[in-house]
Amino acid sequence: MTKKQGVFFVICGPSGAGKTTLVTRVRRRFPDLVYVPSYTSRPPRSPQELKAGRYRFISKEEFERRIRQNEFLEYAIYAGNYYGTSRSEVQTLLASGRNVIKEADVQGVRQLRRRRFGGRLVAIFIVPPSLKELEHRLGKRGTESSIARRERLAAVFDELGALDLFDYIVINRRIAQSVERLSAIIRAERSL
Ligand code: 5GP
Repeated sequence: MTKKQGVFFVICGPSGAGKTTLVTRVRRRFPDLVYVPSYTSRPPRSPQELKAGRYRFISKEEFERRIRQNEFLEYAIYAGNYYGTSRSEVQTLLASGRNVIKEADVQGVRQLRRRRFGGRLVAIFIVPPSLKELEHRLGKRGTESSIARRERLAAVFDELGALDLFDYIVINRRIAQSVERLSAIIRAERSL
């Protein structure tokens, strides 16, 4: 019998929707779920972010070299910086039956929908309860300049126009409730 391939959970949603907190909490509940960090050419927001393990920070030149070597399963330019997923890392994990979770933007999900990568894609969109709340959260985070905040808010309209790419939408009103919902989705999908 061939080994069952893993499920690739991709978490998407506007910057400031609460994705990172949600993913961090859910990962604690599912120790068998492998988190795959993204590559990015964006500079780290803080020394903490550098250490946090959500991203592998590389230069634009290095990113472009990796694009030429076909090392990304998907990649995108978001607010002027590159973001991408290592092809070999994800494929190896899924082929060995491991379930994988990572973040990507809408452009990334669109590419993954068209690609074969040896696993089943489950794409989940996390939305804030309203645009007003999103603006508020981005402002409160205080990590972006006002130009970068505007770019991130503009991206929301693109994202909302691509909802048919997704298997699930979670409205992030209260974090505890959203953690329960995302956990229920993961439990259901990995048992299929
Ligand atoms: P931020 O700069 O706010 O950390 O991320 C900007 C956007 O890039 C977010 O929507 C985030 O989910 C997305 N992103 C993070 N990693 C990847 C990735 O590997 N691929 C793609 N396509 N987008 C990513």
